[in-house]
Amino acid sequence: MRHVIVGASAAGMAAADAIRKRDPAAEIVMLSSEPRLPYFRPLIPYLIYDGKPASEITRQPHLTPKNIRLRLDVRATSLDPARHILTMVDGTGGSEICAYDRLLLATGASPIRPDIAGIDGPGVFTLRTWEDALFIAEAARGAAGAVVLGAGRIGMKSAFALRHLGLNVTVVELLDRIVPQQLDIASAAIFAEAVAHAGIETILGHSLVKVNRRGHRVTSVVLDDDRKLKADLVVVGVGVRPNLDLAVTGGLRINHGLLVDERLRASAPDVFAAGDVVETNDIVTGESIVSGIWTNAAAMGRIAGDNMAGGDSAYEGAFGLLNAMELGGLPVVSVGDIHRETGDGIEVFAERRGPAPRYRKLVFRGNRLIGLVMVGEIERAGVYQTLIRERADVSALRRELLGPKFHYGHYIHSHPKAADRYVRA
Ligand SMILES: Cc1cc2nc3c(=O)[nH]c(=O)nc-3n(C[C@H](O)[C@H](O)[C@H](O)COP(=O)(O)OP(=O)(O)OC[C@H]3O[C@@H](n4cnc5c(N)ncnc54)[C@H](O)[C@@H]3O)c2cc1C
Repeated sequence: MRHVIVGASAAGMAAADAIRKRDPAAEIVMLSSEPRLPYFRPLIPYLIYDGKPASEITRQPHLTPKNIRLRLDVRATSLDPARHILTMVDGTGGSEICAYDRLLLATGASPIRPDIAGIDGPGVFTLRTWEDALFIAEAARGAAGAVVLGAGRIGMKSAFALRHLGLNVTVVELLDRIVPQQLDIASAAIFAEAVAHAGIETILGHSLVKVNRRGHRVTSVVLDDDRKLKADLVVVGVGVRPNLDLAVTGGLRINHGLLVDERLRASAPDVFAAGDVVETNDIVTGESIVSGIWTNAAAMGRIAGDNMAGGDSAYEGAFGLLNAMELGGLPVVSVGDIHRETGDGIEVFAERRGPAPRYRKLVFRGNRLIGLVMVGEIERAGVYQTLIRERADVSALRRELLGPKFHYGHYIHSHPKAADRYVRA
């Protein structure tokens, strides 16, 4: 059985691992359009300021499943599902055909470039790949100031990285708070203090309308209220869009992302898909989403890989929000539906404790926990996450859940079946 996987990142690698576990003899070919060995994408902001050695960002060989034919710098350009073949082009422009028995599309997503005058050209960057991070690092050398468009996770990570290098950094965000998808209003305010403390300026409620250059050098940007900010470089972090080109050539069903069934099969026989390219359901809200989260991509990859190798695993849906990050030295975990304050049986418990920033918000709907934000102290986030994922009835646990010392013991005590599972594991 010949398995071909397009994309060698979170989803692709997890799928290869799952295939290898179920079928030690299967042939696995992985195609990556990137020129380097697989790596942990969320860590690439460190490359901008040498915050971690490259060896910690690269996936270590012992984490890579055995006997895989990994083809780097090769782009799959078209798919013919009826004939079970891909066409691909390598770095030198040479074209090849690649046949498969089972195919996984794990092509991920690419940054969106908004329609802003002057955005296409030197000095304006997005951050998705290792190479992107190196380009930003090079542009930052000798630069005095940077503007980051978008205060989401990627924008803020870029801003902190550039600030580490001593640049004056201004973040411009259209919405009314930083990291708006991952933080609620109170936790965003805590982070805003950390951002200001780091010397990063933020301008909320505005966007860019123009990037100015002298020759090839960016000199300034213009905001939508005509303000002009000096800048030597611009980083754009306003979201990503699934890489659907290959799926389109194969006539696969798509919407915002590639559509799959609960076995992660796409709409053609023997074609599966996983990761940021896929459109799936949010297990908390039931909404259709393209997840953009590493752990979701890996979980989908494991299930798709298992099914490709003859298993029968169902994917229950993704957490639309499942985030653990550190910004300005402050750890935060946010999971599930965190933005609701009222309505539909919603109850919110939020507290900010002590002088050091510690914040906890739990969102309940009826007997279920549906959302969580923790800032500062995040150690027990995993057990809350389990309760959300399992849609556990937490009515009997409510007092303990709200207490500051909630732990696995409380959960296991009230869920004997969960205890069985942990013992077996
Ligand atoms: C700076 C940054 C910070 C992030 N931080 C976090 C975080 O804190 N937490 C979190 O959960 N997530 C984070 N993410 C998101 C996370 O990295 C993604 O959700 C995850 O990488 C998705 O994995 P994937 O395997 O679906 O796709 P990707 O990682 O996008 O990989 C897809 C791969 O397929 C290749 N490819 C695409 N098309 C083709 C083709 N036709 N032929 C060959 N190869 C192809 C691409 O080049 C790429 O290498 C971050 C992302 C970035 C960029």
